[in-house]
Amino acid sequence: MRANLWNRLTDLVYPPQCIACPNETDLPDGLCPACWREVQFITGPVCRFCAHPVAAEGLTCSECHRTPPPWDGGHAATIYDGIARRIVLSLKHGDRTDLSGIAARWLARAAGPSLDTVDVIAPIPLHWTRLVRRRYNQSAELARALSTLSGRAVFPDLLSRSRATRSLKGLSREQRHQVLSDCIVATPARRDRIAGRHILLVDDVLTSGATLSAATLALRAAGAQRVTILVLARVVRSEIPWQPRPIEASTDQADHPAVTDVAPQQASSI
Ligand SMILES: [Zn+2]
Ligand SMILES: [Zn+2]
Repeated sequence: MRANLWNRLTDLVYPPQCIACPNETDLPDGLCPACWREVQFITGPVCRFCAHPVAAEGLTCSECHRTPPPWDGGHAATIYDGIARRIVLSLKHGDRTDLSGIAARWLARAAGPSLDTVDVIAPIPLHWTRLVRRRYNQSAELARALSTLSGRAVFPDLLSRSRATRSLKGLSREQRHQVLSDCIVATPARRDRIAGRHILLVDDVLTSGATLSAATLALRAAGAQRVTILVLARVVRSEIPWQPRPIEASTDQADHPAVTDVAPQQASSI
């Protein structure tokens, strides 16, 4: 009660600030209406493997049709663009681990009821040398926040990097898969948490899917029964036009974002 009153008083003196710009917001850890309108939440029909927008329910995107990914199903919360891209980059490089709270709510909504069947949540691991440099693993921050929200178990060290990999920038999809093959392994001490379980792999961005593929193969090798991937944002391939509709800002966006908003308008698929 006293804490509530104190929070209200501090809100009067220091109104909550939008997580993406200097504007004031109604809620802490939320977006202002202008930023909210810019987030392209993924709604409507998507490829069941990679959550890429497709023309109709039940279709697989052209990429997954050509090369089926090793995981069983996938979800993505937003399109990697605009505000969502800024949030991902702030979480990754800007020490903004505080963003993991709102990101976890978006992740939980994207995963939907499938979250209830998950046994273990695991992040994509960073190599220890990169972890030392960056001080935290943004995917582990997301996985932990999602675990707190959902009550599902999380093991940030379920997987580990067997070797450091160079930057993947500018590499083709095939080159990325080649560079990343065998670079992720199941942590021996955690193998009993993998065998026969449904694992939810969490990452910040889905680009080519090479890292998630390497992680899935490591989980499969350790006996995972099912692997689902969940990302905060996914890159949309340029051959598919993406025209978001304007959305209404929601006052209760923290828990019930207005997501009947964005849908692929002319998404094509095979
Ligand atoms: Zn804003
Ligand atoms: Zn796909």
